[in-house]
Amino acid sequence: MVLIDAHCHLGSRQFDGNREDVLLRMKAAQVRKAIIICCGEHDRQEGIKLKEREPGFKLAFSIHPQDLEDDFSAKRLEKLREAVADANADMIGETGLDYYSHPHTKQEQLEFFRAQLEMASDLGLPVDIHSRKASADTLEMLKRFRLKGIIHSYSGSSEMADLYIKLGYHISFGASMLFPGSKKPAQVIAHMPIDRLLIETDAPYQSPVKGHVHEPADVAAIYQAVSGIRNMDMRELADRLEENFEAVFR
Ligand SMILES: [Zn+2]
Repeated sequence: MVLIDAHCHLGSRQFDGNREDVLLRMKAAQVRKAIIICCGEHDRQEGIKLKEREPGFKLAFSIHPQDLEDDFSAKRLEKLREAVADANADMIGETGLDYYSHPHTKQEQLEFFRAQLEMASDLGLPVDIHSRKASADTLEMLKRFRLKGIIHSYSGSSEMADLYIKLGYHISFGASMLFPGSKKPAQVIAHMPIDRLLIETDAPYQSPVKGHVHEPADVAAIYQAVSGIRNMDMRELADRLEENFEAVFR
């Protein structure tokens, strides 16, 4: 059985002191495949080393919508394109729109999002999408391109999920569905087509346990929860999600 973390920042500085231990726990939990999201030079360098060691890891490079302020220049996009080519990255992401924490950079976010979708389209790569309080604009932008990809950390409605699915996207759920009182993700998971479902931690972020640094091994708890919701045993669920994961990169 192979478990997959469809979105984690394993190259993040937050893992610089204990990345080896995190990898060991990941192995012990049977998490053998992952998408390593790398936004920024440090994370990219670490991500490249990780992929050399682990054939099940995919590399996703991007400029994150929350990282725009320090530089709005087109040079950043050129650098990203070079980094993607040099590392032979598998995906562009996470990219998208965040009107929750950075509403003042809306115009620039839209420009950088469009440019990164264009890049993915040129390079024939799938995309990993970050969308917060921006679903209408996200959907409008995605409609302009014919791309495969993943809507990361989904917490919206079933109706919105259906629209993304119609466009060809996979929907990935994080640990927020384990927070007490969060019923919506479970409802969407229960009714959506199983062949578009994925699971992720967003480690080191979004831990359901206060004070705990989230790590890819923790994805096992989310698999448990989803296997209950879908009434599937773990092995069957793991096999289905592995097929979904491979389909994104095919
Ligand atoms: Zn993330």
